[in-house]
Amino acid sequence: MKLLEDRIRKDGKIKEGNVLKVDSFLNHQMDVKLFHEIGLEFKRRFEGKEINKILTIEASGIGIACVVAEVFDVPVVFAKKTQTKNIAGEVYRTQVESFTHGRVYDIIVSKEFLGKDDKVLLIDDFLANGKALEGLSTLVQDSGAELVGAGVVIEKGFQVGGQIIRDRGIHLESLAIVESMDDKNGTIVFREQ
Ligand code: 5GP
Repeated sequence: MKLLEDRIRKDGKIKEGNVLKVDSFLNHQMDVKLFHEIGLEFKRRFEGKEINKILTIEASGIGIACVVAEVFDVPVVFAKKTQTKNIAGEVYRTQVESFTHGRVYDIIVSKEFLGKDDKVLLIDDFLANGKALEGLSTLVQDSGAELVGAGVVIEKGFQVGGQIIRDRGIHLESLAIVESMDDKNGTIVFREQ
């Protein structure tokens, strides 16, 4: 998505440890007009697919997922990161290893909001090692819902997540795929799509 790639080149900051900072428009300050264009692009890419729910993970996926859900005209649910042990049976629960914080935490979704009638599109801001999307797809599987696909705004193509998710047979759409980035000279190379 050219508009997005141009914006990443203009405002993205490359940090040590393979981290791309885009918090001026994507996941801290948020450019909602850009989010709307992102929503329309996902709608185009999943054209013809029946989707009746968007699922994301807190916190940085929520803003984008809300705008995408408005474009798809479906509800959006976010998986909560939690330390509290809810009574078994109330929630679907799995564990996710955080790329940015380097620790493992539980994520939960209430059984009230995910079930066998749902046809789910996963949405997240970044795809790095694939742990967040794997965790979300486990919750979908446990609920008996159908996983239609996953949409991420930025895939870091030099990390393993994209391969893992595609190898699982999940229809993955990434709007910008960073092939390489160099924190010394600030260059970013995108994969041709
Ligand atoms: P994964 O689970 O695929 O390893 O990492 C995805 C999650 O880690 C995303 O939800 C995102 O919040 C965070 N993340 C991964 N890489 C980056 C990055 O380069 N920049 C930012 N801002 N977040 C990232």
